[in-house]
Amino acid sequence: MPKFKGLNCRMNSLLAQKELFKSGQRVIITTHFNPDADAIGSSLSLKNYLIQLGLQVEVWLPSSLPAHFKWMQGADLVYDFEQSSDRMHMQQTISSFDWIFCLDFSGIQRLHGLSNLIQTAVQPKVVIDHHLDPEDFGTYFYHDTKAASTCELIYELIRSWGDEALIDAEIGATLYAGIMADTGSFRHPNTTSRVHRIVAELIDLGVNTNMVHRKIFDASSIDRLRFLGHVLSNRMEYLPKYRLSLMWITEEDQKVFNSQAGDTEGIVNYGLQVAGSVWSILLIQRNDGVKLSFRSIEPFAVNQFAANYFEGGGHKNASGGRIQKSNIEEAKKILMEVLPLQLDQINQVKNL
Ligand code: 5GP
Ligand code: MN
Repeated sequence: MPKFKGLNCRMNSLLAQKELFKSGQRVIITTHFNPDADAIGSSLSLKNYLIQLGLQVEVWLPSSLPAHFKWMQGADLVYDFEQSSDRMHMQQTISSFDWIFCLDFSGIQRLHGLSNLIQTAVQPKVVIDHHLDPEDFGTYFYHDTKAASTCELIYELIRSWGDEALIDAEIGATLYAGIMADTGSFRHPNTTSRVHRIVAELIDLGVNTNMVHRKIFDASSIDRLRFLGHVLSNRMEYLPKYRLSLMWITEEDQKVFNSQAGDTEGIVNYGLQVAGSVWSILLIQRNDGVKLSFRSIEPFAVNQFAANYFEGGGHKNASGGRIQKSNIEEAKKILMEVLPLQLDQINQVKNL
């Protein structure tokens, strides 16, 4: 799939195309595997907006909806490709839709099992996203890597279509959830003054920001907190030479702590709390190999590192990758071989 290399903003006039979307038309909104708050928040915000324009909208997910998003308006009516009845519904009805919106992902493979169905569909695809290096699978784009979240782009889209008045407190809450999550609760370098202005507008609409924060971040099971404690105590090393926090989670750890999908989300960020650390890496054993998560502080970029050595990519300071058919020990070995090559860049980061 060709990529628009080096491009960070592609709009293809979606912002001026409101008239394409007509009352009565049928719309699929889809987003990436293991959806996060931005993926679900942007999908449901757009759904609830398009419904107000008279369109019929379904949200199709490649994997299940995490429990801590169930409070969002419209979350009770999403389809999950991993459920056989939902999968059948998708396969049987896809030809009856007019549009496919692809939100918060830049590569079609991030739809996992659902990617083939969406890729081969004949309907025009509308991509709204903020990841780097977007693949060329869309008909219409609203793509801006300077945006901190896809929710921010949905807000801008609704505004540019002249429908700010249709953003009610429910849509505001789902937009806020994605913006809050993708900015790391407004502390990552992507937190622009524009982000704060949008959020101020959402608060004025009546969004209960404390409620949204608690629903998303204070929703751990006791097992999950103990699991986190175990990882921080027993599965974390600090490598001063590389200013790196390295964490790993074995298959057994996941069994012992009854780890559920999504329980590892956010753990990698703890590594950056070590004073002097420049980056943090988390290795997670999966059935098909090792998944890697990378986080870094400015100006150190991890997306190129993820792409060069681990079939991955992502944002400058938050990326992911994988080593297929591998285990934690082997992954550590591979990592140790490539770490010295990063020393120049690591040493350029000034201490606080
Ligand atoms: P996480 O560590 O949370 O899985 O991923 C962090 C960020 O990197 C996410 O925003 C995600 O979009 C991106 N990411 C994760 N894995 C990949 C990958 O394999 N390829 C690309 N291009 N981005 C990824
Ligand atoms: Mn996002």
